[in-house]
Amino acid sequence: MIDVFKTIGDRPVTQAIAHAMIITAAKIRNYKAPLLSISGGSDSDIMLDMCWRLDPDKKVTYKFVNTGIEYEATKRHIKFLEQKYQIEIEEMRATVPVPLGCKKYGEPFLTKHVSEMISRLQRHNFQWEDEPFEVLYERYPKCKSALRWWCNQHTNPGGKASSMNISKHLLLKEFMIEHPPDFHISPMCCEGAKKRPFRAIEQEQGYDLVCVGIRKFENGIRSQQYKNCFTPGDSHDNYRPIFWFTESDKQIYEKCFNVIHSDCYHVWGMTRTGCAGCPFGSGFEDELELIINNEPKLYNAVTKIFHNSYEYTRRYREYKNSHKTSRNTAKPMTGQISIFDFQEVKN
Ligand code: SF4
Repeated sequence: MIDVFKTIGDRPVTQAIAHAMIITAAKIRNYKAPLLSISGGSDSDIMLDMCWRLDPDKKVTYKFVNTGIEYEATKRHIKFLEQKYQIEIEEMRATVPVPLGCKKYGEPFLTKHVSEMISRLQRHNFQWEDEPFEVLYERYPKCKSALRWWCNQHTNPGGKASSMNISKHLLLKEFMIEHPPDFHISPMCCEGAKKRPFRAIEQEQGYDLVCVGIRKFENGIRSQQYKNCFTPGDSHDNYRPIFWFTESDKQIYEKCFNVIHSDCYHVWGMTRTGCAGCPFGSGFEDELELIINNEPKLYNAVTKIFHNSYEYTRRYREYKNSHKTSRNTAKPMTGQISIFDFQEVKN
């Protein structure tokens, strides 16, 4: 049986790190076949390091899903991890890699929710009209939830504007009415490149515990799906070893255990990685600059795959900037909220 405190030794770890290590040691001890889903990102690196240290019987299996637009730096890093820890990290191909997914379903634009709503409207041949919900619902009776988004029908308790509405994105409705999209938009690329392969891994027989490097305090929708670090399941349980780590816990852990991240972090200065150049990232322009300087082949690939989405986002941003000042005097769109109720998101 592993003594966590011996592993920690005289390293000055935080309470969150000590707790996570105690629980992780117990999980690895009590499950027969734990599986770690590795991404090559910084959270995943820390999870891997911790689980590897607390796995004296080498029970853990490591897998990495290649979405089809991984940084070369990430692929190199996966090899580095194999050598550093003397483990095998099995590479899984995405069920539908990103380039194919974008061709097949459409390109991601702004956010998952926005892409999903636009995709539904496009499926019903919506004409980007500014009419009341009741009128549009009569014209497009099978498209209720997307029309509710378009017409800003969602409300929060107390009548407050909901982030489920198109009004969450400043002037997006006005922009789309004036410049309807002439390409397919969809969030489905995530489904084929990430969700399905992960589900396939999870459903593989034989694993009784699946671990992922999700943290509660990370940005993004992914961590908001979970309330704590453990979720029991039918075929296997799910565990998030570093769920309660803050940024500061991460830094302390990295220092104490000498965790090395990929060049994306150490050399290029990125603070998080994922699919290269994904248009869901509000900072995709900065990311593209890093990619062109460091991985020109990948730059050519992503600017082709996401060409329409990048262009449409740029046009939307220009539109927003040029119309922001005149918005107070503009005729309000149907279901539009006052600018004073508005909470802009960065996109
Ligand atoms: S994160 Fe972006 S590029 Fe990656 S699978 Fe999802 S939508 Fe596609």
